[in-house]
Amino acid sequence: MKILVAVKRVVDHAVRVRVRPDGSGVETDNVRMSMNPFDKHAVEAAVQLAEAGHASEIVVVSIGPKQSSDVILTALAMGAHRGLLIEADGRVETLAVAKLLKAVVAEEKPDLVLLGKQAVDDDSNQVGQMLAGLLDWPQATFASEIKVVDGGLEVTREVDYGRLTIGVSLPAIVTADLRLNTPRNAALPMVMKARSKPLAVRPVAAFGVDATPRLKVEKVSPPAERPGGRTVASVAELASAIRSELSELEAR
Ligand code: AMP
Repeated sequence: MKILVAVKRVVDHAVRVRVRPDGSGVETDNVRMSMNPFDKHAVEAAVQLAEAGHASEIVVVSIGPKQSSDVILTALAMGAHRGLLIEADGRVETLAVAKLLKAVVAEEKPDLVLLGKQAVDDDSNQVGQMLAGLLDWPQATFASEIKVVDGGLEVTREVDYGRLTIGVSLPAIVTADLRLNTPRNAALPMVMKARSKPLAVRPVAAFGVDATPRLKVEKVSPPAERPGGRTVASVAELASAIRSELSELEAR
């Protein structure tokens, strides 16, 4: 089968996110960026399917500024075969991302599209579901296990009450959760090799999708500072501290 994997460039998960002083968004200048963590699990799943002989080609796509080629290179170093950067300046909303991915699906005709369950910058958790809706394909979101069975997939999903295993026919959309696998760190030779793999760069306009934002961000503000904690000497002191906090809250 042929697999398309969507990867997003986001602020690195180890970076402490700061809001821009004018409240227009999150600071991304001079901040370390990397592949959205859930997307690494999606790439790893695709590479494992290829290694098991179930997939013959893995195409990676990212939509964003030209620096997004970095996250495509990471995926190529992990084992993907080909990359596509859809170059876009500024914010591209989830519906526009889903429409662009639909256009890529029309060109590439993959049997499976793998995405992360959500991008950790906006925490939208929308693109996979929107893409499935636009394509009218079956979807298995929050995957923690993917098995190939009888030409389809058996996907175990992480749900509120535990794990749910469903069967989906191909072509399908699957979004990756953290427990799906342990993404590999590409070894140096793979990183070098990635640079010689094909990476096409095309503008949003080439896909006939109107990516003009429909939402206006009014203001972004950081969460309220949490008061520092304190150490208590005994369980009795802890119980009395909780009691007095509660009675203070009730009195408000
Ligand atoms: P979201 O719905 O924004 O939380 O994103 C869910 C998933 O969609 C991500 O984990 C990515 O796999 C994919 N995705 C979102 N935005 C982009 C983008 N700009 N380029 C490529 N893939 C994206």
